[in-house]
Amino acid sequence: MHKFDYLIIGGGMAGASAGYFLADHGSVALLEMESQPGYHTTGRSAAFYAQSYGNAAIRALTVGCKSFFDAPPPGFTDQPLLSDCGALFVARDDQMDSLHAHFEETRALIPDVQLLTKQETRDWVPALREDYVAGGLKEPRSMSIDVHALHHGFLRGFREKGGVIATDNQVIGLGRTNGDWLAESRSGTYAAPVVINAAGAWCDQIGQLAGAQPIGLVPKRRTVIVFDNSSPHDSDSWPLTVDVDEQFYLKPDSGRILGSPANEDPMAPCDVQPEDIDIATAMDRLQKATTLEITSIVNKWAGLRSFVADKSPVVGFDPDAPGFFWLAGQGGYGIQTAPSMGLVSALLASGRDFPSHLVDLGLTAADLSPQRLREVD
Ligand SMILES: Cc1cc2nc3c(=O)[nH]c(=O)nc-3n(C[C@H](O)[C@H](O)[C@H](O)COP(=O)(O)OP(=O)(O)OC[C@H]3O[C@@H](n4cnc5c(N)ncnc54)[C@H](O)[C@@H]3O)c2cc1C
Repeated sequence: MHKFDYLIIGGGMAGASAGYFLADHGSVALLEMESQPGYHTTGRSAAFYAQSYGNAAIRALTVGCKSFFDAPPPGFTDQPLLSDCGALFVARDDQMDSLHAHFEETRALIPDVQLLTKQETRDWVPALREDYVAGGLKEPRSMSIDVHALHHGFLRGFREKGGVIATDNQVIGLGRTNGDWLAESRSGTYAAPVVINAAGAWCDQIGQLAGAQPIGLVPKRRTVIVFDNSSPHDSDSWPLTVDVDEQFYLKPDSGRILGSPANEDPMAPCDVQPEDIDIATAMDRLQKATTLEITSIVNKWAGLRSFVADKSPVVGFDPDAPGFFWLAGQGGYGIQTAPSMGLVSALLASGRDFPSHLVDLGLTAADLSPQRLREVD
């Protein structure tokens, strides 16, 4: 029996960030079923940080961790976590109402978002078709994230604070005895009064092992392709370019271009792979919107973005299962929100207050609590 103050199930970005902050408050073991903690969704992201992306809760969490990204704690990493790229939301004529609505919604939080004319939009990304794009919205604070440096910074810092990482260690049973959760895994039984469920797409399965009511998590497949830039333009200066209704996006990727059809196909949790239809849809949407010709795809992958009904993350103790803490539903934002999510989960799981800087951004513990999902029922 391995005894700790806290157990974390899952070593992706969620579990790693929670472990990093939680190790300040007690002994922590992180149990990960794969040999590489970033193998699932964390290692398959598009690596961007966009303050105007997602709903109000996501935007507050994203803005709230900018200072961590800009100035991580000493020794966290020796390279910048963010690099400038900017984001451009683009609209066709029939999407201009969406663009204006997006502008109104985001400018309260991000004062320097700016509407662009068709010409200004195409000046920034000349590959956008003249007969396709009608206008754009510039979000100058968007960045590219070094996902590997962030994830490894959390894992390394966690270990340095005394945290224990057990890989190849799938949790197959979870029960509560005498005030402790007992997690059965390949390397034995781990015990702690508090267990953090950070199992990504598998969070509802872990909840089921614990006898908790499901949160209604739906893993959705999203596919990415990387292709050569066929245009005469230097794509490295392009921003992250997103259809305002999220029908596609593209971003520069070391001389090549990363693109996605922004698909959201519901799936059971698994080691998901790209489907041919995703690739065909990506090519169709990207080639309709731009003059890029996609003749050779040099890389492709898919990952699961997991959402609950309101698309906000779920962070907090289960209302019925004592000591069972949810850290789930990061959707497509679990990298850009990770420092906030890790901090929030460590503070709440150790019985501390919700961070005041996030309250100042309009977010409360209730907005993230699993209890809110019961109230909707
Ligand atoms: C194509 C794509 C693009 C994306 N782009 C962005 C982006 O640009 N910016 C952004 O912020 N986010 C993005 N995301 C979302 C982001 O990647 C996720 O929100 C984030 O990685 C979720 O992290 P996680 O730790 O919850 O999940 P995961 O990384 O999947 O980690 C969960 C871990 O739990 C482990 N596990 C599961 N069951 C068990 C068990 N029984 N026992 C032990 N371990 C278990 C798994 O092995 C896994 O390692 C994107 C996602 C995709 C798919």
